[in-house]
Amino acid sequence: MIAAVLLDRDGTIVRDEPYNGDPALVEPLPGAKAALDELRGLGLGVALVSNQSGIARGRITRAQVEAVNARVIELLGPFDAVLYCAHGPEDGCSCRKPQPGMLLEAMRTMGVDPHECVMVGDKNDDIEAAHAAGVRGLKVDANVGLAHAMPALRCLYGDSGNVDDTA
Ligand SMILES: [Zn+2]
Repeated sequence: MIAAVLLDRDGTIVRDEPYNGDPALVEPLPGAKAALDELRGLGLGVALVSNQSGIARGRITRAQVEAVNARVIELLGPFDAVLYCAHGPEDGCSCRKPQPGMLLEAMRTMGVDPHECVMVGDKNDDIEAAHAAGVRGLKVDANVGLAHAMPALRCLYGDSGNVDDTA
């Protein structure tokens, strides 16, 4: 059974625009809106967990990342948690994927357990972070994104129909 889907942002729900600080450049991947609406319609939580090392690198500001995230929400609808890591690879933080920190925080926010969650992302770091958090990982092609994962997500969701919730 699954209760929530954790999503990478760039290359998963919007086209990957490196170090994007411009809301006008946000472009949803094909089918991403329909996919997210389908997940929400099933009653699943949806959370965004994104590495934004451009902040640590001085390429973009937090305000720009937050403006881009606001545009993502405007185009693709609300998320139950929106988290980003502002650190760089050298900072040794616990939030930058492949570390599991953001995933754990998103699950705490949504009140769900790792075994009820799936992480969808286009990078190995997303999948490693998922496994470090005890979550299933689904890797998608960055040109296709979330739509690529929907058959597997429907299948995982469908399995919950066989679970006896009185057990
Ligand atoms: Zn971090």
